[in-house]
Amino acid sequence: MEQDNLFGRKLPKLGFGCMRLPEGQDGEYIESECQEMFDYAMAHGINYFDSAWHYVESQLMIGKCLEKYPRESYILVGKLCFYDGTLESIKAAEQAFAKELSDARTDYMDLELIHALGNPGSLERVDALNVWGFMRKLKKMGKVKHIGISFHSYPENLEKILKNHPEIEVVQIQANYYDHNTDGAKAVGGSYETYEICRKYNKPIIIMEPVKGGTLSTIAEHPEVRKMLKKADPSRSPSAWALQYAASLDGVLTVLSGMSTIEQMKENCEILGEKFIPLNEEEKDMLAEVAKLVESKKPVGCTGCHYCTDKGCPAGIKIPEVLACLNMLNQFNNPRMTRMKYYPAIEESSPRDCISCGTCEGECPQKLPIMKLIREADERLYIGNDIDLWANH
Ligand code: SF4
Ligand code: SF4
Repeated sequence: MEQDNLFGRKLPKLGFGCMRLPEGQDGEYIESECQEMFDYAMAHGINYFDSAWHYVESQLMIGKCLEKYPRESYILVGKLCFYDGTLESIKAAEQAFAKELSDARTDYMDLELIHALGNPGSLERVDALNVWGFMRKLKKMGKVKHIGISFHSYPENLEKILKNHPEIEVVQIQANYYDHNTDGAKAVGGSYETYEICRKYNKPIIIMEPVKGGTLSTIAEHPEVRKMLKKADPSRSPSAWALQYAASLDGVLTVLSGMSTIEQMKENCEILGEKFIPLNEEEKDMLAEVAKLVESKKPVGCTGCHYCTDKGCPAGIKIPEVLACLNMLNQFNNPRMTRMKYYPAIEESSPRDCISCGTCEGECPQKLPIMKLIREADERLYIGNDIDLWANH
């Protein structure tokens, strides 16, 4: 099947991520604003709606706002998550899925994703519970049209998952021009390697976090970057460049944006709507230069050579990955996004396990004070085990 035609139609390049619908100060959704956004989306061909059982009550709002439209006129995506502290049995998954359908006022999901597969404990639990069998059953019953996963972890984990589970039809990954052109993200979900693995297994791709959790919208604060972007196109915003990059990648079905206002929606529709033009090679090269320039200014000069870990850190700490997170935090000041990289990096061993043997510092060609730096990373990023990485914190 043509990748573009998985849903029997070509998808819009912009997908509506429904995890940040407009809400008031009391935390309640503002129904009139939500309706306005859904109506605008539907009127402009944006008919792909990404939701999840755990996006607090958002599916209720989706159900209300989309009820007036014929069900076949839009694509609805749900998610079930099995990492620590979430769904712990198939019975719980059945109940969550039934709630998704009833909240969204529908009989079926066009696509159901196993969420954040690859996150701590998730794959093991999914295998142990045979969630795969459960998903296949939903598909056979017609309650799910397609099965997919969302993924935020290491490329090698994705390779393992895709190799073992041919029933996966779609993969949702993080991707942005910064991570694709630098080594800092090599070990985490947004790397180019992750994208290439999806291509290798011929899986249609849905992109999330194309603006790197908002961080690429402020990248022009670097004066040299501002100059480069302005020279290429004075009218294009930094976010527009990031969205266009993601949408220009081969094999991408749609690019999700978690929009909260009608203004954001209008702006994104301008970029990825009917007028969308893929980036040309020259523009992609320019963005690669931007990424490399910003990366070269990273505060901690870790080159990712892995000499420190090749010698064998007795505590098994992933030092280059931890330092990449410290750089990301310092460069973009976005703790929420950085924690999504940091927690997978410390899944097996964290800087708190360091026994101060000094082996790593003896091996580091950059003579970095590794022990001090990894401690700093942990102090700034670790906020306990029982946290929801997708919640605001
Ligand atoms: S000092 Fe800590 S981080 Fe470095 S090798 Fe020893 S245990 Fe590992
Ligand atoms: S040896 Fe030094 S430069 Fe190389 S990965 Fe380790 S910390 Fe980074």
